[in-house]
Amino acid sequence: FGGIVKEPPLHIIHISVEMAPIAKVGGLGDVVTSLSRAVQDLNHNVDIILPKYDCLNLGNVKDFHYHNNYFWGGTEIKVWRGKVEGLSVYFLEPQNGFFHVGCVYGRANDAERFGFFCHAALEFLLQNGFHPDIIHCHDWSSAPVAWLFKENYVHYGLSKAQVVFTIHNLEFGANFIAKAMQHSDKATTVSPTYSREVAGHPAVAPHLPKFHGIINGIDPDIWDPYNDNFIPVSYTSENVVEGKRASKEALQLRLGLEKADLPLVGIITRLTHQKGIHLIKHAIWRTLERGGQNPCLDCGKIGMQIVLLGSAPDPRIQNDFVSLANQLHSTHNARARLCLSYDEPLSHLIYAGADFIVVPSIFEPCGLTQLTAMRYGAIPVVRKTGGLYDTVFDVDHDKDRAQAQGLEPNGFGFDGADAGGVDYALNRAISAWYEGRDWFDSLCKKVMEQDWSWNRPALDYLELYHAARKSL
Ligand code: ADP
Repeated sequence: FGGIVKEPPLHIIHISVEMAPIAKVGGLGDVVTSLSRAVQDLNHNVDIILPKYDCLNLGNVKDFHYHNNYFWGGTEIKVWRGKVEGLSVYFLEPQNGFFHVGCVYGRANDAERFGFFCHAALEFLLQNGFHPDIIHCHDWSSAPVAWLFKENYVHYGLSKAQVVFTIHNLEFGANFIAKAMQHSDKATTVSPTYSREVAGHPAVAPHLPKFHGIINGIDPDIWDPYNDNFIPVSYTSENVVEGKRASKEALQLRLGLEKADLPLVGIITRLTHQKGIHLIKHAIWRTLERGGQNPCLDCGKIGMQIVLLGSAPDPRIQNDFVSLANQLHSTHNARARLCLSYDEPLSHLIYAGADFIVVPSIFEPCGLTQLTAMRYGAIPVVRKTGGLYDTVFDVDHDKDRAQAQGLEPNGFGFDGADAGGVDYALNRAISAWYEGRDWFDSLCKKVMEQDWSWNRPALDYLELYHAARKSL
């Protein structure tokens, strides 16, 4: 067989507290689903263990049924089973009510609830005779799996398994992350640049030899402008101009914006410090005030359109944006819309209808919005940090860096964390739109044709899984 040694299929079990689209809070939920699908497509066996939240979106679970029960931690745990996006999922429902609280995160005892879940998940594997090759856990919320496994379960009959731990965001729960780093066999984070940015952190620094940065991908079936129920016209890179025009019109109509052929800037984000709140606000004002060609119907000023979709877990930030929305909707009603909620269907229409997606994060472990933007032919305008640096190559400055990856430049970037940086990138982006529509349209086509799926990263994970097995 041409010297290729065929490795037998691995059995990988993810223990996670988020999973898109049924229990998604941020990128972690997307990654668990899309990485698993990519690895399963390469003929490996994958199961996911998730808490059975009362707020699960069960409409997206196929063949949902009661599986069995067991007792652990002084309570009965009912186990349910179903298929999500073609993946096998076990749902643990402890009868102590830990996951009947109407949300994933946000309770004072989150650490206790998730610690319980991690322990219960390992107990479930043990009591049901599972022998996985890899147990993959994520962030602080399933970090306890790493040390509970090494301190207890490895001795009880789950001895074949190796533990892989992924840091999606080092900002939360660093103590738990440090402990999981110590106990895991291999550890990853979600981009090479972020892995270098956090290499000096005390949770990470002692463990660099087993620590790897692997870029996230997006699931090309879940994010597919050719097959998307939330946009009016299917499109590929071949008819990107018509497809995006139809989506822009639908977006303008849906949000009550002026129907005009103007650059439309989109922002889709959690509104938190990490995402660069002051830079987001500046980008909104810059978009509305920058000189263009068509005066606004409301204020007579010349500017572009901006649509922000975002919500803030911190009520002070949420209120701040509600005030900004009220102000903008009275002064720039035809040009600005701030939608301050979580709305997956609307996010699809924005990716498809926007010319630009701005991501001015202060730090960004990987970032999925810029990748999804490109899949829909929207040009990313980003701050050059973490995974944004690894995936967005400035058309004016990063030709060589892109070429080294076998790519062509695909967006606009800036370095500083001040208004000047945003202006620098956004001004060039908007000028490109006005001054060279053909060039701009060909850029949209080009970014759509770049592959930001899991094709490559899934192979990197498999190599890592195999390397973990070899260290047995
Ligand atoms: P993070 O995990 O830090 O929030 P990522 O860029 O990794 O950031 O992932 C964010 C994901 O959440 C993307 O899929 C994005 O489209 C989605 N998202 C963020 N805010 C909203 C919102 N208000 N409505 C719908 N989707 C959102």
